[in-house]
Amino acid sequence: MKIALVGIGKIALDQHVPALRASADWDLAATVSRSGRVEGVEAFTEIGAMLEARPDIGAVSLCLPPVPRFAAAKAVLRAGRHLMLEKPPGASLSEVHALQALAREAGVTIYATWHSRMALGVAAAKRWLADKRIESGRIIWREDIRHWHPGQDWILEAGGMGVFDPGINALSILTEILPAPVHLRAATLDFPANRQAPIAARLSLSGGIEADLDFLQTGPQTWDIELVTDAGPMALRMGGNLLEIAGRPVEGQKDIMQEYPALYARMAGLVQDGRSEVDLAPMVLVADAFTMGQRAIVAPFDF
Ligand code: NAP
Repeated sequence: MKIALVGIGKIALDQHVPALRASADWDLAATVSRSGRVEGVEAFTEIGAMLEARPDIGAVSLCLPPVPRFAAAKAVLRAGRHLMLEKPPGASLSEVHALQALAREAGVTIYATWHSRMALGVAAAKRWLADKRIESGRIIWREDIRHWHPGQDWILEAGGMGVFDPGINALSILTEILPAPVHLRAATLDFPANRQAPIAARLSLSGGIEADLDFLQTGPQTWDIELVTDAGPMALRMGGNLLEIAGRPVEGQKDIMQEYPALYARMAGLVQDGRSEVDLAPMVLVADAFTMGQRAIVAPFDF
């Protein structure tokens, strides 16, 4: 099936384009971006123009930041095309609910992706945890915003989610692998004095799970989830790509390059089966952290 890619920036070029080029299911037939483009692919600068000019393109994948994404998503669904969304699926929960309703009306697929759920250790972790009791847990998600998101001011604007932009990946894994749901008990959010979104956060979740999210980590970067269960400890490291049980690696490797091919294969399956997939559990935890979290103002941040 032909697909268009919208928002040709970092993640589109790093992951979506290679995944689509290697896919037997998809043909990257057009891009929409004000300045980005992909060699050999018809380029538009405005989504309405693409939808009108290319009725043969049945699906659209949006790689825009969350705030500008909603208007583009509405246009795609109103044009009767299948819709794939980068994470987080919107800037707000109510936006995503509106998109789900529009997709139902249009009779098309909407897929809210969580790429970290496709990491190599996640499915095995979920299987292992299915009959375990969680006694406590620790998420350590510490990365360097200057290295991974250079100059991306939108991340620290309202709706950009700040440190939850990476942190929601941890929550997407956690909500996938746990045998029972968790909820937020308390949070502390650090807002740089000159920004509208947090640069660090600490969350306390039910089940004794604590999360330490930090966007100012220089040196070694950490994307780990450690759980203590009634059958001993397990950990998912490298953003979910390496599963350890009782301190021993049992599944996966240090590679995220298979996450996006898996997302596009899943999208193809959903379209073929006439189904949609939208799980907002990770985003509910983030929304609750913004609702309940204590706020601290910290040093101004500049890239
Ligand atoms: P990005 O490079 O800053 O933005 C992607 C593209 O969106 C830009 O190149 C820009 O293209 C367009 N855009 C940006 N702001 C816009 C605006 N206000 N209105 C209209 N278009 C705008 O961001 P990214 O890092 O690729 O992230 C995009 C999404 O992917 C985010 O939701 C992020 O959470 C997710 N994601 C990112 C990563 C990563 O490592 N970066 C990893 C996984 C998921 P034009 O200027 O050409 O229109």
